[in-house]
Amino acid sequence: MKIGNTMSSIHILDQATVNQIAAGEVVERPASVVKELVENAIDAGARSIRIDIISSAKEILSIRIIDDGSGMSPADALLAFTPHATSKITRIDDLHRIHSLGFRGEALASIAAVSRVNLTTQLQNAGNITGTRVLIEGGEIRETGETGAPEGTNVLVEDLFFNTPARKKFQKSKNTEFAHIHAILEGICLAHPEISFRLYINHNEKLVTDRSPRILDTIARIYGSDVAGDLIPVNLSLPFMKVSGYTSRPSLSRKDASRILLAINQRSISSTIITGAIKEGYGTLLAKERFPIAFFSLEIDTDLVDVNVHPTKKLVRLSREKEIARAMSEAVKTALLSHDLIPDIVVPSQIYLEDACRETATASVLSYDFTAPPPYGISEVLHSGTILTDRQLRQTELSTGMVPVDAKLPAMEVIGQLGGIYILATTDTGELVLIDQHAAHERILYEQVISRTVGVHRSQELLVPFILHQTLQETAILRDLLPALAQEGFVLEEFGRDTFLVRAIPVVLGKLEDTTMIDEMVSDLVSEEEVRSINTRERITRIIACRGAIKAGTVCTREQCQRLIHQIRYAKNPFTCPHGRPTMLRFSRTDLDGMFKRT
Ligand code: ADP
Ligand code: MG
Repeated sequence: MKIGNTMSSIHILDQATVNQIAAGEVVERPASVVKELVENAIDAGARSIRIDIISSAKEILSIRIIDDGSGMSPADALLAFTPHATSKITRIDDLHRIHSLGFRGEALASIAAVSRVNLTTQLQNAGNITGTRVLIEGGEIRETGETGAPEGTNVLVEDLFFNTPARKKFQKSKNTEFAHIHAILEGICLAHPEISFRLYINHNEKLVTDRSPRILDTIARIYGSDVAGDLIPVNLSLPFMKVSGYTSRPSLSRKDASRILLAINQRSISSTIITGAIKEGYGTLLAKERFPIAFFSLEIDTDLVDVNVHPTKKLVRLSREKEIARAMSEAVKTALLSHDLIPDIVVPSQIYLEDACRETATASVLSYDFTAPPPYGISEVLHSGTILTDRQLRQTELSTGMVPVDAKLPAMEVIGQLGGIYILATTDTGELVLIDQHAAHERILYEQVISRTVGVHRSQELLVPFILHQTLQETAILRDLLPALAQEGFVLEEFGRDTFLVRAIPVVLGKLEDTTMIDEMVSDLVSEEEVRSINTRERITRIIACRGAIKAGTVCTREQCQRLIHQIRYAKNPFTCPHGRPTMLRFSRTDLDGMFKRT
């Protein structure tokens, strides 16, 4: 028997085999039902799979999966609901050569035990006129019979958890469930570009992919063509493994690893080691807390992949994992190196500052020289950063409308800047002050934005509206935030399916040259981990402040440092950033003497 052969008929695994299979509940929530049934359809060789979800205002009412796969014979259609009934393996050793997604023979039995299932199925190419129908409720077969049916299988699941009140009560909101279903299907779609998937929620099309030999088409279909266009191909071949995938230019990043999607042998899986390896390939191209968007498909010898670790099979055990991770890092690094990654910032080719750190350096000493090479190896990126810093500082100097009352801090003299992160300064009483430039500017910007008492914040229209592609979950969250965003000066408009047009942004964000900032802000806004306890306006304000402020890692001129210090002196609360982190540390002479044990 060929393992995973969908034409084999179903049998019940013997107890010895059952005992060796990772046990546990697989039907935790509606999304698990979708996952298991879609996997069955894939194992049945379907070319197109349709998922139909119907909900009330409060909860999911039914889940239907329709496939055009192998179908089942009348006998198999009944047997399929028995625990440990599977056509995919016969003994545990078969797992070394497994190509199917399922093998436990548990899903249909478990789903039928906690819901009402209506299955109709018709064996492919069998020349039968009628198919089989089975109605099973709480694990009891209620009806069986013949029915007219197309080739393939149609499973309808209703009243999920009707007899397990505890699990039913545990269910999250309908939208959370939709989000889980969407996330699971995204992973499956990307692992199977050769299958066309269609997800409908209450008859509205929510996710569609077409059969394609190229995963890039699937990526474009799900995440939009701008994302697809910003990806770099990565390929890697080892004797036991073939990897193909795409990873984003560093300019397209996210605050979490949720858009790094992996498939091993066409199974959507998660692996912190491989995710970490991909991120590692970026080296310093990405900040520590930023992650790329990436889609990777690994084909690994099946005897190196143990899928029998967890009942949901989302985790697998890999032999030679370290070697695989190292090779992946290298492949990502090589792919990035061979691409031009300088973001498209319009800077004349050789503007340079005479010396970014020299005493007299100010914006006015910007020299334009189109012939001489830049001195001191200062890169163009640094120059555009210097111009940007000036603009950011001007923003918090000009339009505040706040009257500086009294300074909360003494005057300070800049000594220097450390690592593009900390400003070192001294007061006239000889104190040493270390200022976190990002945290300080964030505080200043925050106070400026929050000081708006009435009306709408001023916005500036973007020359070219910016297009945002969101997932279903993000769309739902963002839609709710639109009025609050408008109050703060963001003009966003829904534009077709899961797409928004950003027409205007708050004036305080300055002249926007790098639209990734918008992307990042929105991703902060819709991210699930974001603290929900603070009110929406506070959240938006913090995000504006964080994204609009001078970034850590920006080399500033002495004059810029001095201007920042001047501004923070007049802040209402100069000591902490909006998240409560300190903006500065102060050491008196006595503190320092104590530390050096000079008593
Ligand atoms: P497993 O997938 O682990 O074998 P399941 O309980 O999910 O266990 O399914 C039991 C069996 O029912 C499968 O092995 C397969 O033979 C059959 N089956 C389930 N769904 C389908 C489907 N959509 N098309 C054809 N056969 C199916
Ligand atoms: Mg299955």
